[in-house]
Amino acid sequence: MEELDIVIVGGGIAGLATSLALHRKGIKSIVLERSESVRSEGAAFGIQTNGWLALQQLGVAAKLRLNSLPIHQIRDVMIEKNIKQRESVGPASHGEVRGVIRNDMVRALAHALPVGTLRLGSQIVSVKLDEATSFPIVHLRNGQDIKAKVLIGCDGSNSIVSKFLGLNPTKALGSRAVRGFTNYPNGHVFQQEFIRIKMDNVVSGRLPITHNLVFWFVVMLKCPQDSNNLKNQEDVARLTLASVCQFPEEWKEMVKKCDIDSLYISRLRYRSPWDVMSSKFRRGTVTVAGDSMHLMGPFIGQGCSAALEDGVVLARCLWSKLGQDGMNNVSSRKQIEEAIDEYVRERRGRLVGLSTQTYLTGRLIEASSPATKLLLIVLLMILFRDHIGHTRHDCGRL
Ligand SMILES: Cc1cc2nc3c(=O)[nH]c(=O)nc-3n(C[C@H](O)[C@H](O)[C@H](O)COP(=O)(O)OP(=O)(O)OC[C@H]3O[C@@H](n4cnc5c(N)ncnc54)[C@H](O)[C@@H]3O)c2cc1C
Repeated sequence: MEELDIVIVGGGIAGLATSLALHRKGIKSIVLERSESVRSEGAAFGIQTNGWLALQQLGVAAKLRLNSLPIHQIRDVMIEKNIKQRESVGPASHGEVRGVIRNDMVRALAHALPVGTLRLGSQIVSVKLDEATSFPIVHLRNGQDIKAKVLIGCDGSNSIVSKFLGLNPTKALGSRAVRGFTNYPNGHVFQQEFIRIKMDNVVSGRLPITHNLVFWFVVMLKCPQDSNNLKNQEDVARLTLASVCQFPEEWKEMVKKCDIDSLYISRLRYRSPWDVMSSKFRRGTVTVAGDSMHLMGPFIGQGCSAALEDGVVLARCLWSKLGQDGMNNVSSRKQIEEAIDEYVRERRGRLVGLSTQTYLTGRLIEASSPATKLLLIVLLMILFRDHIGHTRHDCGRL
């Protein structure tokens, strides 16, 4: 059986960020990714100040900024029965916001890793503990077993590692989201702002990435029946266009002219704030990061940035307990556990705040009764008076 020091499951944002953060501290790790190539699903993300601070620590912020415009403000528009009810404009973040193409981010992180770190086509199917040493063993789909001193599950929303930790299953929100790009070869005319329109049961957002490329998403709060029978990208495009049929002409044009291959549809799920507050995120020397730990809806746009923060904090905690040579020390098991406990302690408060604000915001968007809306607004005002305060967070130096 192959024996490794640190194994990371999942080569998405959290997995690559954690591996790169460890590498920058001189600690080697191996990333097992099930896809045959670095995945490109998910189109793009809005990255806010806290995410940029984490990217800075990872050494890839400058490179990513080259291909993404700064966003100056956020505009929220609410339309009911074809009548504009409300429009508000404000800062999108305390500091910096930019849209980043997921592929660009994944590539920037992956290319900064030493050759051989990322093992593609390596899907894990189960985790168990070695009876003699209590270190984890992952079983791969190809029949191979790998023993690790530290196992970090960054395997996303349907995480095998989080099941091994005994975390409660994530919950469905009842909404579906489509993300996509539209390319304007002669340039678009949109302002450098993030605009979100809510019309009846649909919320759609638009974020210019460059002067030619626009990222957008459509969240269908009540999934139409036919959304279960989507067979190909054309079906996804048709459903998405139908869901924005009441939107302004330019919006419909944007969806109609999308890059059909970029469309990515997903059912929205989340880990409840209560579970984030109370779950045990460590079992032996196994832990989780990113969506495996704190899957949340897209309503405050922090899932990816929080995953980047996780990577920086986890690497810092492991390094501060183990040092660069720590993994060679056979008696380091207790130190590994202490390092993971420190990571969980440091992250929990931050993640409870993010998942609670996301949860309440999502509920507010879905709510139809005026009394429920009022209650949610009051709760959000009490708990999150500065509604973009979450963008101020600095995960600190590596
Ligand atoms: C509509 C929508 C809009 C969003 N907008 C934003 C935004 O604006 N800003 C933001 O910060 N966040 C946003 N998010 C959230 C963001 O997309 C996620 O939080 C982020 O991608 C999580 O990264 P991750 O690495 O944890 O998971 P993923 O990126 O999903 O990566 C998981 C990886 O693990 C691999 N994997 C899974 N199982 C296995 C296995 N068994 N073995 C090996 N590999 C495995 C997968 O192939 C994948 O590569 C949005 C989400 C949605 C749905």
